[in-house]
Amino acid sequence: MADLGNPKNTIAVLQKYQFNFQKKYGQNFLIDTHVLEKIIAASEIGPDDFVLEIGPGIGTMTQYLCETAREAAAVEIDRNLIPVLEDTLSAYKNVEIIQADILKLDIADLIRRKNHGKPIKVVANLPYYITTPIVMGLLEGGLPIQSITIMVQKEVAERMQAKAGGKDYGALSLAVQYYAKAEIVANVPPNCFMPRPKVGSAVIRLTRHAAPPVHTEDEALMFRIIRASFNQRRKTLVNGIANAGIFPFTKEQIQEGISKLGVSANIRGEKLTLEQFAVLTNIFKAYGLGK
Ligand code: SAM
Repeated sequence: MADLGNPKNTIAVLQKYQFNFQKKYGQNFLIDTHVLEKIIAASEIGPDDFVLEIGPGIGTMTQYLCETAREAAAVEIDRNLIPVLEDTLSAYKNVEIIQADILKLDIADLIRRKNHGKPIKVVANLPYYITTPIVMGLLEGGLPIQSITIMVQKEVAERMQAKAGGKDYGALSLAVQYYAKAEIVANVPPNCFMPRPKVGSAVIRLTRHAAPPVHTEDEALMFRIIRASFNQRRKTLVNGIANAGIFPFTKEQIQEGISKLGVSANIRGEKLTLEQFAVLTNIFKAYGLGK
C-alpha cells in the first residue's frame, strides 16, 4: 500500500497531478498515520462490512478502508480528484469511486445496490462547511446505517456530545442523542492535515440506536419545537416557541403545556432534556397541535 498518510507521498501525488486545493470544498487532507489508524479502529470495520466514505480526497483513508472492509464506496464531489483516486486506488478491486455531491446522492439506492439494503458503516474526514447537513441527512433519512465515524471540527464534536444545560447544548446535540450514542474518540490538531485548517478537529463515533431512547407521538413536531426553542437562545422556552410563529397556539396555552412538565415557567430551552422535549411534544400533540 502506497502510504499516503506519509506527507512525502501525499506531496508526490499532489505534484504529479498538479493539484490545486479547493477551499470551497473544505479540502484538508490527512497526513498522519496514527490518526488514520485510530479512525479505522474506532469504526470497528471488519471483513464483512460495506463502508461508505464521504470525501475521499486523494484516497488516503480509502486505502485503509479497502484493506479492512469487504467493499467500499468513495463519494467525491471534486472532478479533479477522480483521476487521482483511480490511480491511488488502482490496486483495489473492492472500491467504487463515485463522483457526486453527497447531499444529492441517493444513499438508500447505493445501500440497496451494494449491501442488499442491510446496515452499512460510514467513515469520513468531513468537509467542515457542510458537516451538519451531512450528519443530519444520514441520521434522519431512516437509512440503514449502523455507525458513523467522522472527523469534524472540535466544537461541532462537542456540540454533538453535549448534555442538557451546557453551553454547547443545542438542536444538534438533541438530534444526535435521539438517533445515536455519541463518543469523541480522538482530538486531532491542525498539523495532522495538509493544508492545516484554522480550527482543531476531533473524531466522533455515532452508533445508531436500535430504537430512539424516548417516545414521541410526532418526531417532526418534536424537532420543530426543539429548533424553535434554540433559535433565540437567551429567551425563555415559552417565548422561543411563541416567537417562532409556526405553532397555532397562544402564549397562555404554551405556558400551560410547559407547566405540565413540572418545570419553572421561566425555564430556557437549553435546560430541557431530550426526554422532556418528547413529553412536551406529546402534551402539545394532545392539544391538537402539529396536525
Ligand atoms: N478523506 C480525505 C482525507 O482525509 O485526506 C479528504 C478529506 S477533506 C476534509 C474533505 C473531502 O470532501 C474533500 O476531498 C472534498 O473535495 C470532499 N467534498 C467536499 N464537499 C463534498 C460533497 N458535497 N460531496 C462529496 N464530497 C465532498
